[in-house]
Amino acid sequence: MPEGAGRGAGTETEMPIYEYVCLDCDNQFDRLWPTVASAQDQQPDCPACGSGTTRRTMSRVAVLGELGGLTPQEESASSAETAKAASYTPKEQIDTLQANRQRKREQGR
Ligand SMILES: [Zn+2]
Repeated sequence: MPEGAGRGAGTETEMPIYEYVCLDCDNQFDRLWPTVASAQDQQPDCPACGSGTTRRTMSRVAVLGELGGLTPQEESASSAETAKAASYTPKEQIDTLQANRQRKREQGR
């Protein structure tokens, strides 16, 4: 089995933000969870009216990685870029691309 495509991000260590809507007052709010798993079967109370009748919406899911702030767009763009590169780029070049991207992230902090 070949080595993985260099995807080092494990979902267990990332902090997801989910968007909820209150079914009583239509308030929309975000909730940051410590882990993806912890968000699965929990339902936060509405911060506006205190109602427990809230529903998670699928409109937006953000994940804060170890660098503390990749937007979902950046996440998918970077995965798509890697997948696209993998179809015609030798492995050394992919490594270089990923190293460059990593460097860019560090400078952008
Ligand atoms: Zn409410």
